[in-house]
Amino acid sequence: MKYKSKFGFGCMRLPQTDADDPTKIDQELFNEMVDIYMEKGFNYFDTSYAYHNGTSELAIRKAVVERYPRESFKICDKMPTWALTSEEDNEKFMNEMLERLGIDYFDVFLIHNVNIPWFKLAEKNNTIEYVKKMKEEGVAKKIGFSFHDNSKLLKEVLDKYGDIFDVVLLELNYLDWEDPIIEAHKCYDLCVEHGLDVYVMEPLKGGVIVNPSEEIRNEFEKFNPDKSIASFAIRFCASLEHVKIVLSGMSTMEDLLDNCDTFENFEVLSDDENAFLKRMAQKLSESVAVPCSECGYCVDACPEMIPIPEYFNLYNRSKNQPESNIYRLYFHKLGDEKVPADECTYCGSCLDYCTQKIDIPEELENACEHFETGFSPYV
Ligand code: SF4
Ligand code: SF4
Repeated sequence: MKYKSKFGFGCMRLPQTDADDPTKIDQELFNEMVDIYMEKGFNYFDTSYAYHNGTSELAIRKAVVERYPRESFKICDKMPTWALTSEEDNEKFMNEMLERLGIDYFDVFLIHNVNIPWFKLAEKNNTIEYVKKMKEEGVAKKIGFSFHDNSKLLKEVLDKYGDIFDVVLLELNYLDWEDPIIEAHKCYDLCVEHGLDVYVMEPLKGGVIVNPSEEIRNEFEKFNPDKSIASFAIRFCASLEHVKIVLSGMSTMEDLLDNCDTFENFEVLSDDENAFLKRMAQKLSESVAVPCSECGYCVDACPEMIPIPEYFNLYNRSKNQPESNIYRLYFHKLGDEKVPADECTYCGSCLDYCTQKIDIPEELENACEHFETGFSPYV
């Protein structure tokens, strides 16, 4: 039970009926997935004002809120920090979120995506005081923030406000555990020092971990042919004592069933398995061209509407299969159908939005060079 209660349904990557339109959620499939998830005794749903352009909350309302008693599930929602323009916006967004979800309280409420510029925005618009008041008034049972920056900023935030919050939602996975930019291990330790619960997002790093090169895939197969690559990544996070929730964004029934199996038959990661994952993390980080988690935040911020994560996805896949020319074909097709990657104007608007601190214009240029010349600096 201790581990089973850690499985959270992340609602940022719900199944879609149209892959190009995030608002086209496959409600029927999502309802079926919710029924299985609830039937097996899981109950935590994580969403935000921004997911699926605002339709994730509506889909949860239809699949969960209107079909199950309120006390049988928990919902976490998040304030769109980057969109705050005044103190009054806190209340405006909160009311809108309650209305979209059709509920009158949140089990968990987070300030979304705290990084250097958006932490300033949250302070300027008094959002920290506002969520504190939400808890005092019972509109939120637990409060906290989701975090996308380094340990230096996290320390600053926790030293200042650590006693107000209950929870920090961290990007945590075995690839980012010792990563010098994400610093997941250091951030986890800081939360523990401040007595805060850690909730985990991106346990699969947006799919990077489960789409490795054939060589890495074979190593997993040899190590344990009965367990999926995803199950190791999920167990890595859930085995940590102070991790109370591990979110998994599931787009297919297969993802859901695999995760259910992992949590229903949970085994804490052994020392051998930990050592194996450490080795795989090293190999994986050497084989990824751009550590993009495909969160999509940069796309809305790009005035040219460049489908940035789609280009990075092809770039990464091409790097994992250097002998194949198919990704070059896809890259050019994507440029014909949407906006070509080389239309980046280097305006920098996307940079604050990137949860992985990627130099997006530079990496777009690298991707273009890779697909133009067939030569990648990483291969
Ligand atoms: S730097 Fe390039 S990718 Fe980023 S917002 Fe500007 S045009 Fe878009
Ligand atoms: S480039 Fe950054 S912001 Fe854009 S999808 Fe990838 S990780 Fe997210």
